[in-house]
Amino acid sequence: MGCDCRDKVRKTRKVKVGRFTIGGSSPVSVQSMCNTDTRDLKATVDQIRRLEDAGCEIIRVAVPDMEAALNLGRIKSAIAIPLVADIHFDWRLAVEAVKQGVDKVRINPGNIGEKDKVAEVVKACKSAGIPIRIGVNAGSLKALRENPQPRWEPYEWAKQMVKEALDEARTLERLNFRDIVVSLKADDIERTVMANTLFASKSDIPLHLGVTEAGSFLAGTVKSSIGIGLLLSQGIGDTVRVSLTEDPVMQVRAAYEILKSLGLRQYGPDLISCPTCGRCQVNVGKVVRELEDRIYSDRDLLKRSEGMKIAVMGCVVNGPGEARSADFGVAGGKGRGVWIEKGKQIKVVKESEWVNEVIRKIRNAK
Ligand code: SF4
Repeated sequence: MGCDCRDKVRKTRKVKVGRFTIGGSSPVSVQSMCNTDTRDLKATVDQIRRLEDAGCEIIRVAVPDMEAALNLGRIKSAIAIPLVADIHFDWRLAVEAVKQGVDKVRINPGNIGEKDKVAEVVKACKSAGIPIRIGVNAGSLKALRENPQPRWEPYEWAKQMVKEALDEARTLERLNFRDIVVSLKADDIERTVMANTLFASKSDIPLHLGVTEAGSFLAGTVKSSIGIGLLLSQGIGDTVRVSLTEDPVMQVRAAYEILKSLGLRQYGPDLISCPTCGRCQVNVGKVVRELEDRIYSDRDLLKRSEGMKIAVMGCVVNGPGEARSADFGVAGGKGRGVWIEKGKQIKVVKESEWVNEVIRKIRNAK
């Protein structure tokens, strides 16, 4: 999860969120959002700790009412990563969230209220020294209040999203507040990419990327990977959240896989495994799932395995050859396999011991 060079990207202003910096030449950070009831302290803190172990760097929680807002201080004191309060409709919840010590506030200009309400939120954030994310969603634009079913082409829709984000940003800047992050999310790739590309051409405000309500694990990951990937590959985007109807830990893992595949962040090992075929007499899928579960829920293993290439192959016909490029790995036989390090066959390991053997190897790495 180390820092990587970001010289090639669009230069954005730096915004501090707790100990992290979003924008400038900082690495693209990974965020997630809890799906617990924020009023439930134990469930929320437990989930955030699991997310921390998986590498989540900034966590957002929903603040639907004052009881949730009043719980934020206790949540904050039990976790290590910056806490973001997600506020809709009621500016007073944002002001209370700031009092509770959150590290950032996310507001939706489409529903937070008139400019004097926004000014109250800005005043509170300014005196606490914390930033605001202006989160514009295609489905809750101000313009939809007068025209709920517009016949806009995707580009018109994107232009309206950008207009509302820039209007809101100007309102904040007129109040001498510049610690702003913007997100422009739609539930499709086309409008998300258009809106973010257009915004990036007009402002140096850092962008939080995501395709909103992306869907189930598979469909949502594919959609998010393409949408977020298209933007990041143009150098647009400073922080990401992959929205999936899934355990938020999987959102974090998906986000890192996107960043890793674009060469923007490192995250755990490069775990290669074969698709299996009729020659396979071991359970490659089970081994890979167990390995992923162990590695991606343990910060020490994640760190130690960073950059390692580990192979799990189904047979000794093609396995050893295909595992040659890996640092180490195993190629199956029947209930056992050949342990390979840097292309050399070292020993035979029982299938039931493969996972432990890989974990031991990672733990012993310097
Ligand atoms: S490594 Fe062996 S089991 Fe796996 S796909 Fe190749 S031939 Fe089939």
